[in-house]
Amino acid sequence: MPVTKVHFQPVYDQGKNLLGVFLSPELWAKAQAEISPAIDKALEELDPSTVKIPPEPMKDWELLAQYWDFQYELPVDVSCEHCGSSTQDWQKDEPRKFRLRTATLGGLANFECQKCRSRIIKKHFKNKVDVECRPYVEK
Ligand SMILES: [Zn+2]
Repeated sequence: MPVTKVHFQPVYDQGKNLLGVFLSPELWAKAQAEISPAIDKALEELDPSTVKIPPEPMKDWELLAQYWDFQYELPVDVSCEHCGSSTQDWQKDEPRKFRLRTATLGGLANFECQKCRSRIIKKHFKNKVDVECRPYVEK
């Protein structure tokens, strides 16, 4: 009788306790695209500390600061209209009240409020700064 490869197999210990589920590499390769996001989501729920926090693009911020040629100093204060959180210098807070998400040479800086997850978008112009607060929307 030919050996049929087992692609999906519950795995038990000697006391018949379920240890986990084995997926063959072939099964995983076929189903990964669909299963993987569901597993990531479930892992976050099981252990919120595993949630990956994207690193702040500090190089982009440094570039913005380096090529800054407006008459005023590059502002480092950030405040959230939505929950009222604010800081005089976002880089000095420990832990951070706001995390930098993007910064561009064009003068755009995007921060995430760590309290309510709103995005604070600062557009720096020659003689003014436009600040916009976009409350977090659950996707
Ligand atoms: Zn906030």
